Amino acid sequence: SSSGLVVSFGEMLIDFVPTASGVSLAEAPGFLKAPGGAPANVAIAVTRLGGKSAFIGKLGDDEFGHMLAGILKQYGVIAEGINFDQGARTALAFVTLRADGEREFMFYRNPSADMLLKPEELNLELIRSAKVFHYGSISLIVQPCRSAHLMAMQVARDAGALLSYDPNLRLALWPSVEEAREQIMSIWDKADLIKVSDEELKFLTGSDEIDDASAMSLLHPNLKLLLVTLGEKGCRYYTKNFHGHVEAFHVTAVDTTGAGDSFVGAFLCKIADDRSLIEEEVRLREAIKYANVCGAITTTKKGAIPALPSHSEVLSLMKG
Ligand code: ADP
Repeated sequence: SSSGLVVSFGEMLIDFVPTASGVSLAEAPGFLKAPGGAPANVAIAVTRLGGKSAFIGKLGDDEFGHMLAGILKQYGVIAEGINFDQGARTALAFVTLRADGEREFMFYRNPSADMLLKPEELNLELIRSAKVFHYGSISLIVQPCRSAHLMAMQVARDAGALLSYDPNLRLALWPSVEEAREQIMSIWDKADLIKVSDEELKFLTGSDEIDDASAMSLLHPNLKLLLVTLGEKGCRYYTKNFHGHVEAFHVTAVDTTGAGDSFVGAFLCKIADDRSLIEEEVRLREAIKYANVCGAITTTKKGAIPALPSHSEVLSLMKG
């Protein structure tokens, strides 16, 4: 099929994951490098499924930055929107799930290159060719990257792209909870389509339960579709005309890292082909089902990028 271009804007970084499980960062005997960053994962999810994508963002002009750009290219992601910062370094994260069940993080972001993309460095031609423009980086809160995001969003919208937003709330990364909520809500009304997790929805609405009324209260005149992912319970969807639930695809999960990004990439692939599917519930449910299967497959393998499925893997699972 002649699929439309998905342009994904945001950060790409390296997660250093301990080679032993259940250890604290200080106890780790060594680390494996796991490339990631939600917007980059989404771009790769799209090409794995046979779609077309480009990544926009800034990396350090260092060993890690060039390694990450190489990975994007290796997966067929268009790399013409990548800039290299001459001063700041590529973002790095050290992440572990300790034996006590707590996650422990440490970030190198003070500031890292991804936060320093300037509006005048944007590849506008690439952004104008997007059918879907996706964003959802933590770098969206800091200057100059915030201005670059706002400009890119406007340019994409003017060129007729559908705007897709995933807040990717990682509370540990925000200066404060209030600031996180405020910043996210300040750009909430710019998107045509938003994906949040159930936890994020609870945080944004301030309620303990997700009920349809509180989800619907987040719809705004621009927003055509709100998707709420529920892990092993699948996904809920809300439009002005209908809402409902699509069950998850049953699998035995081993590592849920990247499931949300896989889900988003899959859904955007479908939307980039035919945006009218948002308006018809039957076809919307089909697209969500496809995205649920992609998310589910991603949980059956370790890591994010190595666990993203190909289109044929998805089809063979859907056939049963
Ligand atoms: P996020 O990573 O953003 O928190 P979720 O964990 O809700 O997102 O996962 C996104 C999607 O991936 C879910 O809507 C679901 O379709 C699929 N998924 C995630 N976890 C599982 C699981 N344990 N079993 C089956 N599907 C899953």
